[in-house]
Amino acid sequence: AELTELLKERIRDIPDYPKPGILFKDITPLLADQATFGMAVSALAARYQASGARAGDADQGAVTVDKVVGIEARGFILAAPVAYRLGAGFVPVRKKGKLPYHTHETTYDLEYGTATLEVHQDAFTPGDRVLIVDDVLATGGTVRATIDLVERAEAQVVGIAILLELAFLQGRDRFSGHDLHVLLTV
Ligand code: 5GP
Repeated sequence: AELTELLKERIRDIPDYPKPGILFKDITPLLADQATFGMAVSALAARYQASGARAGDADQGAVTVDKVVGIEARGFILAAPVAYRLGAGFVPVRKKGKLPYHTHETTYDLEYGTATLEVHQDAFTPGDRVLIVDDVLATGGTVRATIDLVERAEAQVVGIAILLELAFLQGRDRFSGHDLHVLLTV
């Protein structure tokens, strides 16, 4: 409950960004606050942390994670410290043209426009247990595309951890079979 309040206080609404009619959720005040940033990273990692790392927690369900995927660009900011926390590797999913080596790519519809995402072809080992991290879940298109990229590499999505869910867009319906963990829903 305390974290929820801190997150609410530090996510700012920006009207008509990046286009008229869009109410953009700006997380930079949250990132700039050391306590809130730290608590958010811990909370995103918590359920995937081996129980030994959280002595005293009755957490039976923790799944080992091999790789944490961060989605460009704000996803990187959260996914990298989560990966460090979990002792997992970090894999960037980026917009087309940004990755230097051979890639898999997928094109999808956004809340505003379309986008192509890429991942390096050798980023995953078949069977890798993968956690996807992003800042905001809106229509779900970005996470859906990222799941497809992970699965194309024969890796397994064991969870999706999101800071903020915009519930009215019903993005979670696009990957109902997956373990979705959201810190704040508005
Ligand atoms: P979706 O594909 O779910 O419609 O959109 C999610 C992606 O767009 C995420 O990668 C997220 O960073 C970005 N995004 C969409 N709307 C917002 C917003 O209001 N605030 C922020 N910070 N990111 C957004």
